[in-house]
Amino acid sequence: MDARDRERYARQSQFAPLGEEGQRRLRASHAAIVGCGALGSLQAEALARAGVGRLTLIDRDFVEESNLQRQWLYDEADAAEALPKAVAAARRLRLINSGVEVEARPADVNADTVAALVAGADVILDGTDNFETRFLLNELAVRDGRPWIYGAAVGGGGTVMPIVPGRTACLACLVDPALNDAGPTCETAGILNVASAAVAAFQTAEALKILSGRLEAVSARAVSLDLWGGKPRAVGVERHPDCPVCVRREFPRLAAAGERRPAVLCGRNAVQVQERDRELDLERLRSTLEPLGEVRANEYALRFLAPPYAMTVFRDGRAIIQGVSDVAQARSLYARYIGV
Ligand SMILES: [Zn+2]
Repeated sequence: MDARDRERYARQSQFAPLGEEGQRRLRASHAAIVGCGALGSLQAEALARAGVGRLTLIDRDFVEESNLQRQWLYDEADAAEALPKAVAAARRLRLINSGVEVEARPADVNADTVAALVAGADVILDGTDNFETRFLLNELAVRDGRPWIYGAAVGGGGTVMPIVPGRTACLACLVDPALNDAGPTCETAGILNVASAAVAAFQTAEALKILSGRLEAVSARAVSLDLWGGKPRAVGVERHPDCPVCVRREFPRLAAAGERRPAVLCGRNAVQVQERDRELDLERLRSTLEPLGEVRANEYALRFLAPPYAMTVFRDGRAIIQGVSDVAQARSLYARYIGV
């Protein structure tokens, strides 16, 4: 560390469990954040301010005004531009800490893409809003022996659990993978912005322990937070003796590569569809769509308004179609306007 860094991170190095050695390790470390919404945007800001050397930000969605209530890092200009969240977050983080290498990956995390997207990261932070992706991350982490930190926030609270393969239980020991997306969601129960912030803060603390080499300090418990009721609770999670993932080492979600299924997005009346494997020529698509409705574009995505539908099309061939909650209808709109 040079004198400037020593000064910049002085309050953190003074924190005895980290010390200067911990700070040096943070500088040399790499975290991947999967999902840059309420949880991921706070994790990203905290890790950038803490001086983690490299951050990979992965998110499939774009900024909307309804995100601003709880999603840190974004502002009204980002929503007006409909910027991909990964891109908007990276821009802001570079202003906060120019010494951090930030990589924006506006992309969908699925069995085909997950390994490459999180490659090289020393820890993976869960900023997603769905169990399909969380179970996929859990399989990858357990298979490859990489730490990841589960977090979920809804209503006035949430749950956090760090997973260090070989040392702790895994997500499938805590939540039955067969239940997949059971329970309340932000769509049905709403969310307090401080509930997601608290969950993200607990997750980030565990990430800092891992990245600074203090594995022995990582919690072996799941913490359940209720900010409205004021009742935090830590529950020990034992490895399930017959856990399909960390005991039987079965990884069905990772094995499902090539099966790209449309995803209904939580709380959005929107469906993500990807029907093609090649990149889209957005300039060409723009001229095709302009006679049919209003088209807006930035360098990352194209937005096409054909009321009651709105489509945001990304270069990687994905489209988020708003105004539908039905997968079949979303696929037919994709075929009609974008083509397969
Ligand atoms: Zn397990």
